[in-house]
Amino acid sequence: MAAFVIAIAIVTASPVAASPLPLPDPVRPRSASPYPPQMPAAGISGQYGPSGGGFLSLPCVGDCHFVTSNFDHCNPNYSIDGVICRFDGTVAYAGNGRDPQASTGYAMTSGGTDYLYYDGHDGWDLGLYYEPVLAAAGGTVTYSNWAVPGCSTCSSGLTIRIDHGNGFDTYYGHLWRLGVSTGQQVSRGQVIGISGVTGAATGEHLHFGVYRHATWVPVDPFGWEGKGPDPWPEDAGNLWLGGAARPPAIVLPSVTAAATTTGPDESQIAVSWSSPGPGVSYDVSEYADDGAATPILSSSTATSTLVQGQPGHSYWFLVSARTALGETDSNATAALTVPGPGSSPR
Ligand SMILES: [Zn+2]
Repeated sequence: MAAFVIAIAIVTASPVAASPLPLPDPVRPRSASPYPPQMPAAGISGQYGPSGGGFLSLPCVGDCHFVTSNFDHCNPNYSIDGVICRFDGTVAYAGNGRDPQASTGYAMTSGGTDYLYYDGHDGWDLGLYYEPVLAAAGGTVTYSNWAVPGCSTCSSGLTIRIDHGNGFDTYYGHLWRLGVSTGQQVSRGQVIGISGVTGAATGEHLHFGVYRHATWVPVDPFGWEGKGPDPWPEDAGNLWLGGAARPPAIVLPSVTAAATTTGPDESQIAVSWSSPGPGVSYDVSEYADDGAATPILSSSTATSTLVQGQPGHSYWFLVSARTALGETDSNATAALTVPGPGSSPR
C-alpha cells in the first residue's frame, strides 16, 4: 500500500505541459481554508513602507483575492508562544480565545471571534484556488518538487523555491501542479505552477514565503509598520516593489477571434485572431456541427488561416493564446454556416 501511494505521488509530481489545465478529477468543491479571510491581499500596504528598494510583486494574476494567514512577527518559527503579531502592529493572544476550527488562530479582542492566523506562521496564505502562481521576481528555480519527496500530504506539498540572487529566496507551497524545473531561470510574472491544496493544507490556498538566502531565516515582505521595534529582528523591511503589494505589471493575453465565409461559393472559412501579450502563440481548433473537434494549429504565431467548409454545415473555432511568460486566455468565434444544400434548419 505504501509503495502504491508513493508511486501515485511520483506520477502526480510530473511537471505539466502547456495548454489550459483541467481541474482535478473529481473536481473538489471550493473549500476555503478554515481560516476566514483577514484582509485583501493586494493594496494593504499601499500606504505603508518606503518607495523603492523592494523587488517583489504579488505571486498571482490580479490581486491574490484575500489573506487567510499572515506572517507572525512574534516568532515565525512554528513554535506556539500564544501570541500572533501582524506587520501593522495588530496582535492576537491565545488568552483572548482560540478559533474552535483552528486552535492556533487567536482572537484580537478578548472573547471575540476576530481571529488572526496563525501562531508561528512564517509566510502569507493567499486565497488562490487552482490558479496560476507567478514568480514574485526574476531568479533561478532552486527547488521544484514535493517538500518531502514522495509525500503528497507532508509539509507544503508541491513546492517551488526561487533564488532571486539578491540575498532573498521566495517559497511557494501547496501547489497542485509544478510548471518549472530546478535550475530554470524565470522572469517576474512568469507562471511557475498552479495553486492547490497539496501537503498539510486544510483548504486551497497559496503559501508564499520570503527567506534570507544564506541562513533560510524567514522575513515578512511587508516589513514592520507597528509601533515600537519589530518583534522579529531578522526582518528585512518592506520588500515589495515600490513599497506596495501589487501584481506584476505584465500584459495579459486577451483573445479576440472571428470567422467569415469566403471564396467563390462561400465554402471557405477565413478565421482570424489576435491577442496582446509578450511572445504570444496560439492553438486553434475547429468545431463542426457533427461534434468533431479538429486541431488545426498548435503553438503557432500565425494570426489567420483559411479552412474548407462543407455546404450546409456549421463551424466555430476555439483560439487559445499563451504568452512567453505562460499566461493564457481563450476565446471562440461565433458559429457560422456554410451556405448550400442542407443548410436549411431541420
Ligand atoms: Zn502558510
